[in-house]
Amino acid sequence: MELFELTRPELEEAVAAIGMKPFRGRQIFRWLYQELATDISMMTDISKSGREELAQRFTVRPLTAPEVFTSADGTEKLRFTLDDGAIIEAVIIPEKGRVTLCVSTQVGCPLGCLFCRTGSLGFSRDLTVREIVGQHWAAQKRLAEAGKRVTNIVFMGMGEPLLNLASTVKSARIMMDDLGFNLSNRRVTISTVGIPDKLDELGGQVSVNLALSLHAVTDEKRRAIMPATKNWPLKELLAALRRFPLPPRKKILIEYVLLRGVNDSPAEARQLVKIARSLNAKINLIPFNTFDGAPYEPSIAAAIQDFQQAIWDAGLTVIIRKSRGDESLAACGQLGYVPDTGDLEEDD
Ligand code: SAH
Ligand code: SF4
Repeated sequence: MELFELTRPELEEAVAAIGMKPFRGRQIFRWLYQELATDISMMTDISKSGREELAQRFTVRPLTAPEVFTSADGTEKLRFTLDDGAIIEAVIIPEKGRVTLCVSTQVGCPLGCLFCRTGSLGFSRDLTVREIVGQHWAAQKRLAEAGKRVTNIVFMGMGEPLLNLASTVKSARIMMDDLGFNLSNRRVTISTVGIPDKLDELGGQVSVNLALSLHAVTDEKRRAIMPATKNWPLKELLAALRRFPLPPRKKILIEYVLLRGVNDSPAEARQLVKIARSLNAKINLIPFNTFDGAPYEPSIAAAIQDFQQAIWDAGLTVIIRKSRGDESLAACGQLGYVPDTGDLEEDD
């Protein structure tokens, strides 16, 4: 059994099943995530014979060290090749007073949003817990060498987290466990197209921040640019979002990618304001990152300006996401995405 697949309670159960005390599970868990241990033999608060017995039953396999691409702005894209040859990416985004890591949850994505390069690549498979948490582990290992650590996690890389719900939830739990990566739930954000019943399911299991990829203000237009949303009407989606158990005083972040002549009119800005108000949400306007064969173009600067002004005038928080990491193709929609939640989040 692979230890990086297990949450802390699962690990405690697994060691109990071979006749060891559950607290051994807690020790092992701490070694994996706080000490970044790569081998059971390193876990020196367990007797030698105990470690030998554990090594017979369990494996400890961090992901193979990633290839790293660094941008001039300090963004680092980590490219992992998984056991089956699949390639996934995570992005380290250093910001003032924080280091955000953007993680992937699937190889590709089955939802096929037309503005998204990942979507245009199709879907291979879900990531396992080890493969999601392993991105965090590798980033932490890299940062630790420079005396730094991951302070914030965004599930905004390749894939749709709610379509890989079980592994996403377990991974978030490991990231938030005080013997794991020990992040507050206020510093973990799941970005999703918004699948109403899956949002309820997620909310029944964890409380984390949500980012909603809205991108259009009517069902018709959403369906046109995000075909998979045809089964998830806005009305039901908004109701599910209102029920979601966010961490105290946190707001939903609405992501809205501006596509020239498609969704960037003043009337749409006003409608977006209405929706954001009804959710008490913040808005993140995202300049479209184009790619070969993309069916859209970025909005012109004046349209972006007007769109932002309309939201601003309505008194809502709006941020235009800086595109970061372009050079290494780490920017939004270029396989691994670079979200800029930084300016929006109070540090706590
Ligand atoms: N599947 C989830 C999380 C991954 S996508 C979701 O859709 O929310 C992460 C973010 O990048 C989403 O807001 C997505 O809409 C945005 N994005 C995708 N392609 C983009 C592009 N070409 N330019 C800018 N943002 C893009
Ligand atoms: Fe999938 Fe998100 Fe890309 Fe849509 S935007 S195809 S949901 S990764």
